[in-house]
Order: sequence, then structure tokens, then C-alpha cells
Amino acid sequence: MTESKAFGSNCIGANDQTVVGRFAPSPSGRIHAGNILAYLCAWLVAQLQGGRVVLRIEDLDSERSKSAYAEALMRDLERLGLTWDEGPYYQQNRDEVYAAAFDSLSERGLTYPCFCTRADLHAASAPHAGERFVYPGTCRSLSEEARKELLSVKPAAWRLLTRDCDIAFTDELQGPVSMNLASDCGDFVIRRFDGSFAYQLAVVVDDAEQGVTSVVRGYDLLDSSPQQRYLQDLLGLPHVEYAHVPLVVAPDGRRLSKRNRDAELESLLGRFGTPEGVIGHISYLAGLIPYDETIAPDELLCELTYSKFVESLQGKKQIVFS
Ligand SMILES: [Zn+2]
Repeated sequence: MTESKAFGSNCIGANDQTVVGRFAPSPSGRIHAGNILAYLCAWLVAQLQGGRVVLRIEDLDSERSKSAYAEALMRDLERLGLTWDEGPYYQQNRDEVYAAAFDSLSERGLTYPCFCTRADLHAASAPHAGERFVYPGTCRSLSEEARKELLSVKPAAWRLLTRDCDIAFTDELQGPVSMNLASDCGDFVIRRFDGSFAYQLAVVVDDAEQGVTSVVRGYDLLDSSPQQRYLQDLLGLPHVEYAHVPLVVAPDGRRLSKRNRDAELESLLGRFGTPEGVIGHISYLAGLIPYDETIAPDELLCELTYSKFVESLQGKKQIVFS
């Protein structure tokens, strides 16, 4: 077996058993209790298995990403004792790499242009609360001619053809996950109207290139995993292990937002005095330690084993912030 980074090869890192985790923050806001728990868990999963951590700044969305936030995020991680071994890598200016993956899919006829506006899609199938949006496939059957004609006058997003088959894997914390991309998601966008590459494509390409083997992130991203696994298969990239950690929600059960200032790191530091106080409180809320005490990530390693970590968080989808 030869190692190759070319798309279509299945053997990148196949013999390398080291766990490589990642912090992958989007620099669009300040760090809060939910991010802290996700980063802490990503760090623990790697450290408890003798692995290492890569830092990747997910600044694909140039409008929402601010370099000041990226700087602040790195300072906050360091302050919390959540160290990384490699990076930071950035997603901006990597269009060439993403384009190569996109082209390899397009050359095989797996992509097609979609001209639907948000309003079109909404009119076609407005999802009810809590329902997933499924693309109805409107532009899938356009003729080659119609596509050419429309492309000359209209911008298009590019969708990936999905297949009617189940994508199944076992999440380290949430157990078996199965999704039929055709019926649960539909053909999804991998290149956006403005020409930029979509999150799903960039993440899959980056994870492979950066040797990531373990993806630990919030439960809200569980639905992205089958799409990413499908892309990995099509691009001949290795699979990764997933662990989706509970979301930290506001006392009213809603997602933490700008209204919940008390969950932001600065407020937490004010309340608990030290970064170790903050780590301790969040670890306690998550059930990783039995008492609300001051503890550094390094010290947590002595309290936990990987199986104890999994047991503490298994099946938990959310944790109420208090
Ligand atoms: Zn369309």
C-alpha cells in the first residue's frame, strides 16, 4: 500500500494509530461555556488516548470571521490550559485545495448547479419547527442545455448528488447513528452562490490533510457527520471517529446566545476567580467530576480514563448552564 494525498486513495495514515483531535473554532464570537466544554472534551479525548491536538481556525465565512476573534480565542484556550500541538491552520486562502476536491467530484458527474433562491426553496417545502430541511431536487433534472443557458445569466450554488442508502456509524458518545442522505438531507451544497466552498467540503478536506482522526464537537453538528462521511468516501479520504458532546443550554432550555452573558468566559472568570475554577465548574456540570471544585485540564487527566470519560457523557444531549 502506498501513501498518497491524491483524492481517490484510501490509505492516508492507514497505519498511523495516533489519535489526532482538533479544536476547530469559527472566529465569529467570544468563547462561552458551550465552546469550553466542547474544546475541553476534544482535548481530553486526545490526551486520554495518548494523542495530540491540531488547532484549525474555521474562517471560511469571511464576512462573519474576524481576526480579532481568532486571536482572542487562542488566548482564551491558552488561558484555560487547553493546549494544542499543531497549528493554527486557517481555512482562508485554501481555495485551491478545496477546488481540487470539488473538481474531482464534478469530473465524475457528482455535482450540479442549483439556481434555487432561498425564497424558492422555502416556497417548495417550508420545514416545520424541529424538522430538517430536505432539498427537493428541483435542479437535479435540468438538461445540460438548460444548465448552460442559466449559468450564463445567473449565479449558481453547486450541490452534491446523494444516493438512496443509509450512512451508519457509531458515535463514541451518542451510539449508533444512521441517516439516509437522499431522504433526510437531499443533495447538499458544497459550493455556494458566491463561489466559496461550503463548510462540509472544507472540513473533510482539512481533516484528512491535517491527519485528524477524532472529531469531538457539539451535539448540534451530529447531523453533519453523515454528509462528511459520504464526502470522505467519495474523495477516498479516511473516516474519523466522532464524539458529539452535549450542548450547554440556557436555563430556559434554549441555546446559549448573546443574552446569556453570564456564560461567557469573562463572566465565568469573574464568578470563579481562575481558569481552573471555570474548568472545574463546567466539568462538574458535565458530570466529569463529582464536586464543583477548582481543577486544571492537566489534573483532570489524573481523575479520568477514556472509558470513564465516555461513561460520564454517554447519551447526554444537553446540559443546563447554571
Ligand atoms: Zn435548485
